Amino acid sequence: MKRAAHVILTSHSSQVFKDSLPIHWGVKNPMHRGPVIGSLTDIKQRNAIGTHSGSYAVYRALSIAQGSYSTTHKPDLHNTDSPVRMGPFPSWSDPDKIVSIDPWGLDIPIHFKDLYEAGYDIRPTIAVTQAHLQIPEIHQAIDAGRLKVDGKVVLENKDIKVTKVAFEPVWYLPGIAKRLNVDEGDLRKILFQETGGMFPELVTRPDLKVMLPPIGSTTVYIFGNPQDLSNEKIELTCRVHDECNGSDVFGSDICTCRPYLIYGIEDAARTAQRGGVGLIAYYRKEGRALGEVTKFLVYNARKRQVGGDSASTYFHRTECVAGVEDARFQELMPDILHFFGITKIHNLHSMSNMKYNAIVKSGIEVVNRISIPAELIPADAQVEIEAKKAAGYFNPGETKTVKELETVLGRPIDE
Ligand SMILES: [Zn+2]
Repeated sequence: MKRAAHVILTSHSSQVFKDSLPIHWGVKNPMHRGPVIGSLTDIKQRNAIGTHSGSYAVYRALSIAQGSYSTTHKPDLHNTDSPVRMGPFPSWSDPDKIVSIDPWGLDIPIHFKDLYEAGYDIRPTIAVTQAHLQIPEIHQAIDAGRLKVDGKVVLENKDIKVTKVAFEPVWYLPGIAKRLNVDEGDLRKILFQETGGMFPELVTRPDLKVMLPPIGSTTVYIFGNPQDLSNEKIELTCRVHDECNGSDVFGSDICTCRPYLIYGIEDAARTAQRGGVGLIAYYRKEGRALGEVTKFLVYNARKRQVGGDSASTYFHRTECVAGVEDARFQELMPDILHFFGITKIHNLHSMSNMKYNAIVKSGIEVVNRISIPAELIPADAQVEIEAKKAAGYFNPGETKTVKELETVLGRPIDE
């Protein structure tokens, strides 16, 4: 089924609907807070800028254009609810603690029962399920005796049992502006301009405070009981990992991403086995949120420069190509941790001071910081690891001098 042939501009004054429910971000009771409605089946209900599914909204539009997806389809949410109850926690009703996801985006038919049953097309932005992980390095860890089969966390066939949680981005724009220390009006104008004018309501509808940005999602894997995450007396091992498809999935050896990720998983499982809980958060922010095309260009520029791929020029090459060293905005990252009511991390697997500072600044205590064991670093990734250490990333060992960094070289481009 197709929409009307004429186009209705979302910025037109007749698009301000009396029927749409207000959102009071940070209010404790979900019915008083109000659901975020970004669906398009009844545009009179909409109270957010953009639409659901993050970047996949564009594929949905293609399906509709091709005629294979009905514009009136409403998801049947029967039996889709979480196998584990999550929250609510005090952080859910603190308008400053969570600004980039909607804590009430989980289990819509429960939290917004009356509205859902009255026919409001409220869509989940969070979903929880359970899974078994089969990872070759974990099998090796078991064979080497570093991880034991216990039949609960690690099963007889060496699978690891996890609960996994998917989050779509939901931005409360005043909170995003405050977190990044920019003016909300400026933020809205620049988001509009720099996406080629994608959402006019950013500038024409200042009354709409919530945006569903067309960006990647986040997935959390939990080892042990998810309800223990909010109990600071229970040991928590955590890694906050930013996507690196080349290493994470394909085993590319230029960086330490997959070894670090898998080491985090191994340690998270071990923590769960001794009565604690483990959490791996996986953020879709490929190549420091600059994208893979930029990343591959940087790899080439690093390997072709005079003197070869050197730890001493590691960060500089990224800025030359991308215009900025990093665009991950770790300030927003802890929101995911606050969703689970986390107040204390006993073991944080990360060398990044940006991540550490963001977590601590958000009010979460960090006891130990864990860096990757030297034997897990691939040879070509020595450039990255030494450059990071020298730049002040967390490292309990020695840091190389500028002169020494020039001697840490990666493979040439043609090898
Ligand atoms: Zn990587």
